[in-house]
Formats: sequence, C-alpha cells, structure tokens
Amino acid sequence: MRVSWFFSSVLLLGLAASCATSGEAGPDGFAAGGSSAQGGSDQAGGSGGAPAPAPLQPATGIALGEVALYQGVKVSLYTAANGQVTKRNAPIIQGRDALLRVFFAPKPDWQPHRIAVRVTLQPGQGEAQVLEIQGTPGGVSTDEDLNSSANFDIPAALLDGTLSLRVELLDVEAGQGDTSGSAWPVEGFQALEEKSAEGNFKLRVYPIRYDADGSGRLPDLGEERQKAIRHAFLKRYPIPGIELELGEEIPWTSKVSANGSGWQSLLQKLVNLRAKEKRPNVYYYGLFLPTNSLASFCIQGCVAGLTLISPGTDDPSLRASIGLGYNDEMSLNTILHEVGHAHRRTHAPCGPFGQLPDQIDPKFPYKTGKIGVWGYDLLDRTLKDPAKFFDFMGYCDPNWVSDYTFNALFQRVVALNNQAAFVHGNPTRWRQAWFDLEGELRWGDIVERTLPPVGEELTVSLGEGPNARQVKGYFHGMSHLPGGLLLLPEDVGTPDVLDAGREGRFYVRGRP
Ligand SMILES: [Zn+2]
Repeated sequence: MRVSWFFSSVLLLGLAASCATSGEAGPDGFAAGGSSAQGGSDQAGGSGGAPAPAPLQPATGIALGEVALYQGVKVSLYTAANGQVTKRNAPIIQGRDALLRVFFAPKPDWQPHRIAVRVTLQPGQGEAQVLEIQGTPGGVSTDEDLNSSANFDIPAALLDGTLSLRVELLDVEAGQGDTSGSAWPVEGFQALEEKSAEGNFKLRVYPIRYDADGSGRLPDLGEERQKAIRHAFLKRYPIPGIELELGEEIPWTSKVSANGSGWQSLLQKLVNLRAKEKRPNVYYYGLFLPTNSLASFCIQGCVAGLTLISPGTDDPSLRASIGLGYNDEMSLNTILHEVGHAHRRTHAPCGPFGQLPDQIDPKFPYKTGKIGVWGYDLLDRTLKDPAKFFDFMGYCDPNWVSDYTFNALFQRVVALNNQAAFVHGNPTRWRQAWFDLEGELRWGDIVERTLPPVGEELTVSLGEGPNARQVKGYFHGMSHLPGGLLLLPEDVGTPDVLDAGREGRFYVRGRP
C-alpha cells in the first residue's frame, strides 16, 4: 500500500485557498477575505482570468512580527528583530504540507482597523497564487495562540523545490502611522529553498505469531492500525509520504520476557530477513504480543522495543527493529522510537523518575530532553508547547519531535535515499557473532554485503596459543539491552575462543 502525505492529508487539510475561505480567523473575527489563484496580466488573458487582488496600500501602524513555517516543528523564516533567518533550525521539506503563520507586531501608534494579509506564492514555473485573509488584528501574535496570527495552509504540491513567497500587510480601511516592516521581503520574493527527501519513507511491518505460550497471539495490523502507524510517522517524521507494507506472518516459539531475555533472538530473525532485502531504504519492524495485555507484560517495567544501533556510516542491512504490538499509544510510540534508533538516533536525556536512558546523544541540545521549539501536528492541527513536550527519542511523555531530531532524521533519510544510487562492489561475506545480555556468544548466519562493513571497529583475537590470530570485526550495540552483533570475515569459521576485548560487554567465551 502506498500513501503519500499529500493525498492522505489533503482531505483533512484542504488546499490553502479553501482554508482561507473557511476562516483561519483571529479572536476578533479576523475574517477570511477569500483568496484566489492569480493569473498573468489582464492584457494577455483577456476577460476569462481570475480577478486581480485589490490594489491596496501597505498597512499603517503594524508590522510583521515573524513569518514561520511548520511541517512538524516551527522553522522561523523572518523576525522583526533580526530580519531574514539565514541559518534555519530544520529544513523545509519538498512535497510535505505546511502551515505558514504570519505574526503581527502592532506599533505604539497602531489604531485598530481592517487589514489584509496577502501571501503571494510564486512557483518556479507557472502562475503565482495569491492567498489573502482580511480582518482586524487583536494585538501582538503569540506562539501559543494559533488564533493570534494569520495562518495559511501551503499544499505539498506547491513545495516542489522552486517556491518563492512574499508576505504583505495591506490596509483595507484607512489607518495612520508608518508602514515600515509591513512586507517581507521588502522587494520581490524570497525563495523557500525546500529540500528533497529523495522519496517516501518505506516501512515493512511483520506480524509475529507468538507461539511460545501456545496462544498463537497476533498483533492487530488491520486497516485502522495501519492507518494509525502511517499517521504517527507522517506527524513526527520529516517525510513527504510513507509507504507501509505488510510482511508475511512470522511464527515464533521462543519465550520473550519483560526483563530482556529472548529479545535478541527475535531481533536476529528480523535482521536476517532484512539482510535479504535489496532495497536499501526500507525499514523492517516486527510486532508481537508476549502476553494478553501490556499491563500483564510490563507489570514491573519492561523492554518494549529493540534495534541494533549502527555507529559510523550507513548500513542498510541493520534497518530492522522489533517491539510490542499492543493496540495502544505506547506501542505506536515505540515504533517511532525504535525506527529512530534504526536511523542511528540515540537517546534524548529524559526518563521516568529521573532515570536517564543509556546511550544519551551527547549532541542533544535540550538538557531536559524536551522539544526545544514549538511543534505543530499537521493532521490534528494542534500546537505542541516546548515547555510541555519531550522528544520521542527519550522516555518521557507527552512526546513530540524536537527540531534537532527532525533535522537529524531528515539528513539520514536523504542519505539513505541517495544510497539507492550507490555503486555497490562485489559481495563480501561476513559471519554474524551475536552476544547476548550476559556476553554469551552465539554464532549466527553468513551475510553478504556489497558495501564496506560499518560499525565500531574492533580488533578480535581468535583461538589460543601459537595458532591465535587477530582480525578486524565490526560491532553494533543494541538500543535497550547489553550485547549486540559483531560481523567477522567469513573465513574465521566458528572458533571455540574469541576475545573482542570488551570487558563487561563481551569477552572470551567458549563455544556454546
Ligand atoms: Zn531507545
């Protein structure tokens, strides 16, 4: 199944023009004045074109306080204090719907009167579109009050990498005072410089049939649940669209426990499935139900999901995660979180009762693990307060996405989608050595790679005595448990003694 952001959300969001006429209105009845797609000149078009916007004068006594675009997080484009923002906190993404907010900054001599907020959108090719809302601003616009600003929906299709815009405040009723700061840019148009994700996000979900207790329990992956998964990603991930595929049922007969035992074997199953996938930018996710309910499984805390975290450059073969598949919000959050790990994100610094997660991202910029800037839910049309919401890469609720994670995920999505065009070399063969929670070694499959191996490079000693030798191995830790996966050259065989020199995580072990 394929769902793109534009087609899935257009019914909810409507086009910019219809939004304007439906009245994104201020508290004082900042009423919609309608909007129209604006054609070329009257001379060329004859009598059939759309009417030209009224020739209004720049607004008096009021300036633009800020112009900001929201595709999940607030990206400020212009502020009255600093002018055009030259270094953005997150990219503007091609093919993804956006909300444009125009903030008002009335001047000391402002006399309330009716103005028009006009946004002219100029695509690289084709006709400009003019969106206009009229009303009387009630005062200074604020971040937390959507109704205090003039808001415009920018449809995904217009954000094609070539869009420029111009924002103007114009007097509808005569006013007094100066007109400085009433337009941005002062002359002409400003390019939005939308960035391409180079394709949709692709997620393949596998229902795992839990046979360990004889129940054969399966997670619900019906239409409604699939839609909930798609929407969760569309809201928080910097993607133009999501393609969700349903994998075949996987029977599983080993016990998976809340304390972490049994998780790695199941993850190994998904990693090996993923290793056969030829498309580099597809994420695999296995969902399972180890008990009847989350409450019974997680009675004293639990592992809820697991992913191999690949340091260094990208490794497509490790894009696999598993997690609880209960029909609740927590399982949805776990999918977002684990797939974040598969995007090489580590943790934001927040956990319940002040207990921080392991593997905190040292570069995470917000000390309390919060989202840092205002967020916006494009589907529910609600703002997310940075004083209240936590980044979903931490363990705290309620969660949203920080601009830091939004930006980092985008950089990764672009890198992976570009990787589809990588020139792959001749396949090389690697042996999997899995280390469990206690550091016990379990030899895994042989996997083929057509790109150089990645992971934490380790010098591994094989064998003992005069026959001992050393090879390079590549280690991948796990998101929420000790242990992980070591890739070794195939010709190491399965020696009885292996020392990767990582005391406390894995070390010399006899062959099981
Ligand atoms: Zn985690």
